[in-house]
Amino acid sequence: MRPVTVPFFISHQGCPHTCVFCDQRTISGSAGRLPGADELLSKIAVWRASSGGRDMEVAFFGGSFAALPEETQARLLEPLQPLLKSGELAGVRLSTRPDSIDARRVAWLKENGVRTIELGIQSLDDEVLTASGRGHSADQSEAAMACIKRHGLRLGAQLMPGLPGDTPQASLTSLERVIAAGADFIRIYPALVLRGTELARRYAAGDYLPLDLKGGIALCKLLLLRALQADLPVIRIGLQADQGLNADTVLAGCWHAALGQLVRSGLCRDLIGRHVYPGEEVIIRCHPSRLSDVLGQKKCHLNELAERGIRARVLPDAALEINEIAILKNTERFNYNLLNDLHYSIDEVY
Ligand code: SF4
Repeated sequence: MRPVTVPFFISHQGCPHTCVFCDQRTISGSAGRLPGADELLSKIAVWRASSGGRDMEVAFFGGSFAALPEETQARLLEPLQPLLKSGELAGVRLSTRPDSIDARRVAWLKENGVRTIELGIQSLDDEVLTASGRGHSADQSEAAMACIKRHGLRLGAQLMPGLPGDTPQASLTSLERVIAAGADFIRIYPALVLRGTELARRYAAGDYLPLDLKGGIALCKLLLLRALQADLPVIRIGLQADQGLNADTVLAGCWHAALGQLVRSGLCRDLIGRHVYPGEEVIIRCHPSRLSDVLGQKKCHLNELAERGIRARVLPDAALEINEIAILKNTERFNYNLLNDLHYSIDEVY
């Protein structure tokens, strides 16, 4: 069972950079204050009361933890040590920039209870990194990923398709390199134009065009499918609506409150849509946990099929694997697997 994660946002703390897309204040909804020991411990206690006995971990998100002054990192981790020793906390996870990672730092973090490090990789294309003002190279990111794996920690990677200079092929290549580096999970955050950022200035000047919702979903589907085929969990697609993002702060880009659901269910929609034809009447069977993906939001996938002249019913079938979908036509039954039978060409995304 996954541990309960007690989140602390350390917005923009420790980061000496200003990436063109970044407005950490907006994303975290926090002014960037660091929690004190009392705040850390009292929030953990509150969350423990509702944890139902599950393992617990503390997460420091936002900002760049390993780039904080060392005494500040120590001040944040020190209050957690008794809980880590007693087993009340299973570990600590943090997010940070790739160029804040080296062997000495990772060894120290591990000694102090850190079990998972998420790197803001964004892209592994040097031209994209430069155009986005990241201030580090793809080689530095690969070295950081290797360092984290060498120390036996869990490695997470955040990817941001659609940055300046990015292409679908470059995004896919970045993902392939993250897979090759042995990442344990990824998050995919399509680039957004946030008010007050350098990207917003470029967008207003006509110098940058972000992925729109349709193009972003198409690219995310391709990335998600590739990650699933590589057995790499994608734990999040798109920033959360409650992270200070709204119609006022998001000026443009691929953003939707349920982006992850649109992308995941889109895989089912595409697989089914490619194997049914106008005039057919079909029964679609899927694992019960896939029902909402197959139906789509407000049954939109069924409505799309109806518009194509296809009458479809969807039934749960616990005998099917999670990625299997069966389509019954008259007396014939066709079994498909999302991972083997769905393919996207990169040209579909351009
Ligand atoms: S490294 Fe992270 S926190 Fe720093 S400016 Fe870039 S996106 Fe923002």
